[in-house]
Amino acid sequence: MPNPFTQEHAGEYEGGAFHPEFPKGKASGTFKVSGTGVTFECEHRTLQFPMIDLQVSVGGAADTIVFLKHPNHRDVSIYTLDHSILDHPALVNDPHIGEHVKSIRRKKTIWWGVLAGIILLAVGFIVLAWLAKSPLAKVAAANVPPAWEEKLGDTAFEQLKATTLDLIEDPALYAELAKLTDPLVKGIASQRYTFKFHITRNKQINAFAMPGGHVVIHTGLLLAADSPEEVAGVLAHEIAHVTRQHSLRKLFESAGIYIIVQTILGDASGLISVIADYGTFLANRKFSRDFEHEADNEGWAYLQRANIDPRGLAEFFKKLQQKKGGVIQTAEEATSILSTHPTDAERIGRLAEKWKKSDQKDGFVEIKIDWKAFKESGMLE
Ligand SMILES: [Zn+2]
Repeated sequence: MPNPFTQEHAGEYEGGAFHPEFPKGKASGTFKVSGTGVTFECEHRTLQFPMIDLQVSVGGAADTIVFLKHPNHRDVSIYTLDHSILDHPALVNDPHIGEHVKSIRRKKTIWWGVLAGIILLAVGFIVLAWLAKSPLAKVAAANVPPAWEEKLGDTAFEQLKATTLDLIEDPALYAELAKLTDPLVKGIASQRYTFKFHITRNKQINAFAMPGGHVVIHTGLLLAADSPEEVAGVLAHEIAHVTRQHSLRKLFESAGIYIIVQTILGDASGLISVIADYGTFLANRKFSRDFEHEADNEGWAYLQRANIDPRGLAEFFKKLQQKKGGVIQTAEEATSILSTHPTDAERIGRLAEKWKKSDQKDGFVEIKIDWKAFKESGMLE
């Protein structure tokens, strides 16, 4: 068995030494560690520290420098940035120095462990906040009292009414529309929302709903539809955006995690400051693919509960798509329902699949609106 005190370490260590006789007090050089001691060499001279009573310590920023000192040369110290010196068998195996070197290594390990822990924790928190944003936004939206949500919708609706909407007030028109919307709303049986339908003079084929239950239908959409079932399909989808709180959830997601958590904890001040900006937010009402899927599924369920033929939505979109060749060509179309609801093959396919799997294929309620007469009555002008 080799004697650890005489075992030679092959490597030399790059470093330096502080010495009052060196020019500027220090010099760089190399040193060797052996069982008998440390030998430092530079252009000025050679220094030797015996192993007995050798002192090893770390210092500098974040303990990056290893210092070697010896009581025989009180004003001299050798240093290196090469921490592998702490693994040198001559140091590790020395009964006095070994313990000290081990404690330095332990301290180093703990220091790196703490640093790694802090970094992991920070990264973990960011990832978690990002992952949890959507679910938390959902929780926050569900925590908003119904009265607030209604107020939010009313405010947004009043803003639009004052700026862009050209509402038709004819009671006879709404009496006709009610033949379609009454069974739909009855089927939804929402405790939280009262739906209010509005028809606005606008050639763009569009309809949209606001938090709280205002549903705005463009005359362009009614004129483009070939049956009340197509309109019912679009409205069921829009209503599902309301009941699933998609606007509100989107509002929370863009407001950020702080306001979400604040609202969940019952403090509404952050939300209120965001709501002040709500009009602008509403203008950008394109939802994520997930929300559109959710609204398709939920709307489908509403139509089934109302015993209305649920194929209307898919038929309406398919028809629009074919008519436009799938491409939005004019500025008018760019703000139409097609711009916010891209009717890709996957979506149409999913709705077709739902129909295929549906238990009920006939026996649907007959919506008693003479659609052709309704469109030609002049009420939509
Ligand atoms: Zn939608």
